[in-house]
Amino acid sequence: MDPHTAEFGFELRTCRWAEREWPPGADPAGDSYAIVVARQLGTKRRRWDTIVLECDPVALRQRAAFGRERLDGDLRHVVRNAPAEWTYYRDALPHPGYPWRYVREAIHRAADRGILETRKNGTRIEIRRKWAYPDWLERIVAIENKPDLDASAARTLASQLEYDVAVGLADEVWVATETTGERVEPAIFEDLPVEAGILALAPDDLTAEVAWHPRSLAVDKPGTRILERPDGGERDDSAARFEYADPEWKIDKRLGIAERAYERGWRSFANTMRPDCRHFQLRARDATQALPYCAAMSRCQTAAECAGSCDEFEPEPPVWRTRGWPIEGGPGKRLQQLLADRRRRRRPGL
Ligand code: SF4
Repeated sequence: MDPHTAEFGFELRTCRWAEREWPPGADPAGDSYAIVVARQLGTKRRRWDTIVLECDPVALRQRAAFGRERLDGDLRHVVRNAPAEWTYYRDALPHPGYPWRYVREAIHRAADRGILETRKNGTRIEIRRKWAYPDWLERIVAIENKPDLDASAARTLASQLEYDVAVGLADEVWVATETTGERVEPAIFEDLPVEAGILALAPDDLTAEVAWHPRSLAVDKPGTRILERPDGGERDDSAARFEYADPEWKIDKRLGIAERAYERGWRSFANTMRPDCRHFQLRARDATQALPYCAAMSRCQTAAECAGSCDEFEPEPPVWRTRGWPIEGGPGKRLQQLLADRRRRRRPGL
């Protein structure tokens, strides 16, 4: 099977496993935190395959009052600093470091979303909070999925994990690989940073064993972003280039990633695929999860393959949209709705 295809299906299984079982080895009856799982998120320089947010359950429920859409940086600046009593917005909010007109625009957006109260006092805009923005995020866990971790995949992955360890944006980084059933998982012998955990996942059974425990990274301390590293060849005596990542930047980035994860979850894969193609199906591999399936290729297709540029793409026949699905707009729309409903069920309070 094409390794990319295998990786995509494996990634979705990791997401589902994390949703059911995280943290590994924990008592399933205990629920000291709530979990939000998302995929393909991160920063401009580094995107993680799977993200697990460990959240305070009460605060996560309170977060739902702000709606299922993410709060971007400008909205967070407003709602996190909004006062309990009516106050002129420039007196209430710290200077954002950019012109106030952008803050006014964010205030109007927040009011339109119903998450902030506003009123006019003469020519002045006053604001008052509806709810305090809760401190819902506790930890961010990043997982890279490599079902088939051979030496060359490990080399590529090692430099990405070194970047993660140096910057310390996630609390933990892991590699999920398909279990081999051997007494010591071979992934242990690859040259990965010791700070990264290794998870041996059985994608069919949705069970996993920890082959190596990760170290917690210093998310509240300054980190370094590795911008460039020498290739290490004989003629290469250049130094690696670094950039400083200050703790304030990290706090804001972490919350930005968490907000995007909250909005997207991991079932949003259908949003970037073509469920309106007549060959698109969702197939339940077992009672726990529906995975995308392409009837034309007779296998699980990747998100990259399942795009408008796909040679096999055929729009679902108009009759599908009119007979039996007069409002929803055909089975493609129904599949998207089904995944959206499942995503919503994982957000308490929505
Ligand atoms: S034929 Fe192409 S567009 Fe249609 S479901 Fe398969 S991969 Fe997606």
